[in-house]
Amino acid sequence: MEENTPGVQRYVDMGQALTDRLQQQRKEMASRKFDTIAVHGLFGLQDALQSQGSTMEPLYLSPAQHFENADHMEATLSYQMPGWVYSRIANPGLAMLESTLALLESYRCNCDASACVTASGMSAIHMATRPFLDARRGRSMNIVASSRCYGGTHMLFNERYGKEQGVDVRWVSEPANLEEWAGLLDEETRFLFIEMPSNPGLAMGDIEALSRLAREAGIALIVDATVASPALMRPFSYGADIVVHSLSKVIASSGYAIAGVFCSKKNIRNRWLDDAMCEDFATSVKLLPFRDFGPALSPFSAMMVMNDLRSLRSRVNQMSESAMKVARFLELHPGIESVNYPGLPSSASHELAKSCLKLVDSEGPSGEINRYSYLMSFNVAGKDQATRDMFDRLRLISRATDLGRVKSVATIPAISTHQQQGEEARRMADIPSNQVRLSIGLEDPDDLLADLEQALRA
Ligand SMILES: *Cc1c(COP(=O)(O)O)cnc(C)c1O
Repeated sequence: MEENTPGVQRYVDMGQALTDRLQQQRKEMASRKFDTIAVHGLFGLQDALQSQGSTMEPLYLSPAQHFENADHMEATLSYQMPGWVYSRIANPGLAMLESTLALLESYRCNCDASACVTASGMSAIHMATRPFLDARRGRSMNIVASSRCYGGTHMLFNERYGKEQGVDVRWVSEPANLEEWAGLLDEETRFLFIEMPSNPGLAMGDIEALSRLAREAGIALIVDATVASPALMRPFSYGADIVVHSLSKVIASSGYAIAGVFCSKKNIRNRWLDDAMCEDFATSVKLLPFRDFGPALSPFSAMMVMNDLRSLRSRVNQMSESAMKVARFLELHPGIESVNYPGLPSSASHELAKSCLKLVDSEGPSGEINRYSYLMSFNVAGKDQATRDMFDRLRLISRATDLGRVKSVATIPAISTHQQQGEEARRMADIPSNQVRLSIGLEDPDDLLADLEQALRA
């Protein structure tokens, strides 16, 4: 690299001082509790004074940054000085959201993390997985992923990576079965991917054991933790390297934004990545491939996400408590064949859920208390028509392919979110056509029970 002129170097030094100050601020905030971090992020009282005294984070919609002079521009565009440059690459509001999410994701995990927000959950999964599929490292490659995953993820892996790019996509049918994972893994495996709890089946795996498996192979374990959110589970604490979320769900719970994020632990060890990527995966991806693919989040949407993020913990707590009540009601109802909710001892994932779904910073008699999320699925007794009839009779609960909302929502996955992947893949993911997925919101649970009761009374 050419040496900087003194003029450019002056800005590089100023940038370093700025980075150090931010690092100090991050350290101080990281020592606070989850709710405090969620509410304040890195927008401190000093930042407020520098923003006309605005107590809330200002919104910058400008696509481009104006520079003092050519030296300032050169220092920033060569990535030697932090700056915004252009909103597809960075923006003050996006950076605030990213730093808050990175702090929450790594909360009490004994690691430093970084984050990159994206235009949707799908683009977060794309950006977090694509760098591993570099053909320069060999054309024969495979990935090992849990088949119990979001329909969009199934399509991305199976169609886009598998059929279009020739990646050998190996689906794990039973994610809790460690031997199945180990049996599919070999020298050409680029990463392991698990969604947990899964949407809609709430399937779980043993992240700790999977992390060990990945670490021994020198590859990454990527976890889609959308359903749990950092309020209930932080995969870094179990050894995962990369975590993705659709922020469109319980994090932006009010439902005014589509957004995603991928977070990575600093200094991961990985045989498929270069040194810079290993050191800080999320930031490296953000500065290069993400910039070139361009799935940037709108600053306006980032603000919507940030506003909801502040109350994540208490909201997930209340929604989960209501969900427990609803699951118990459904389990005893004669119109229901089976209920799948990790909080029910009858659920196949109950034991794994008990070990890792806990409300952060809660205090129970033996540590943090279990909360099993707001999402469940149930199979309606009778045939498909009975399921559709019951679904059509709902009067308070929305019929939509949505979840994590402050408003309760129901869907029939086989005809919506998991329709395009076909019957074979649905059977593998255990999604029968009489299954309803139900996401519990913040309404009074008694009113939800009444709505379900009248819909089930055929
Ligand atoms: C919705 C969802 C996604 C995709 O997120 P979008 O924001 O809709 O692109 C990915 N994973 C899970 C578990 C989801 O529920």
